Amino acid sequence: MRIKLPHIKSLIPFIFFFLTLLLQLFFKNNAPLTEKYYSTGLYPLIAQLLSSASVLLPFSLGDLLYLALILTFFIGLGLLIFKKICFGRFLLRVFQTTAVMYALFYWLWGFNYYRQPAHQRLQLTKSLASDSIFSRNFGHVIKQVNFHYTPQINFKPYANDSMIESSYKNMSDFFNFEYPMGKSRMKYISFSDFFAKATILGYYGPFFNETHINKHLTVWDIPVVSAHEKSHRLGVTSEAEAGFYGWLTCVKSEDSFTQYAGWMYALDYFVYQSRDIEKRKELIAKIRPEVINDMKVRNKHWRAWRNEKIDKAASKVNDAYLKSNNIKKGIDDYNGVVQLIVDYLEQEAS
Ligand SMILES: [Zn+2]
Repeated sequence: MRIKLPHIKSLIPFIFFFLTLLLQLFFKNNAPLTEKYYSTGLYPLIAQLLSSASVLLPFSLGDLLYLALILTFFIGLGLLIFKKICFGRFLLRVFQTTAVMYALFYWLWGFNYYRQPAHQRLQLTKSLASDSIFSRNFGHVIKQVNFHYTPQINFKPYANDSMIESSYKNMSDFFNFEYPMGKSRMKYISFSDFFAKATILGYYGPFFNETHINKHLTVWDIPVVSAHEKSHRLGVTSEAEAGFYGWLTCVKSEDSFTQYAGWMYALDYFVYQSRDIEKRKELIAKIRPEVINDMKVRNKHWRAWRNEKIDKAASKVNDAYLKSNNIKKGIDDYNGVVQLIVDYLEQEAS
């Protein structure tokens, strides 16, 4: 029996989809090969190609794509209701589009989920979970944040992007990646108000290699969130690792405010994770009042924006997304940044 050509054509998206599933299975069980052939082989070329197109436009191409997909879906639904197309055809198009988007997500970025973990890539030794190691490093973070305190008037928004980029360039040997992997242009999230209510400060757009930050970031957030999103562009998928890359890029920068913002970011995490530490009160008492004040202003800003219902719903979606992408800890992965910071500081001190 001969298969008619149009049928083969309509199968192409599904062949692409199954090929992607097979590759996912393969990469999932072969982290060193993922690292070699995808993350440091094919991916830098993809990043270069996509970013050289998206850098030309000031708005988010990814957001535009999502909008176009939603619109197309509703147009299709309209055509179905008015009986301009049959249900089978409508369903086929929905499945084809989903299959292509799924496959593209992995080919253009997502296979990085299966690369070697940062500890292995950066040759960091995992320290044992102990209160004394945590407290020692908490104390170190406090010393650093106190030392690097810089009033917000010294923040140079126009120079932020080039500052972070040059720090990434200086750190490229340690991070072991091929800098710059194309060009980067920071874009604003199209619906910043809505995302601010969900306290989503930035996100990465894998289809066009785009980094986005929220319009409503405080001055202390801008350097850290920019550096975090840029790490995703450079092939980092895990949130803990992106947090660590963002922190290190800021504290190693040549700008004093960026360094301060980096240490303040770390302090926030250490304060949060020190709830059960005996020396907590004693350590917190050592934080400079100016720093405490900045943290209070920042928290007040986000409390005012936060909408509990939207925030909780967004957290659930994000948790499910991370878990479906090989991040077993889901949203708790964000807190893994402390482990990476501790291990880096321990290694630096030894
Ligand atoms: Zn992230």
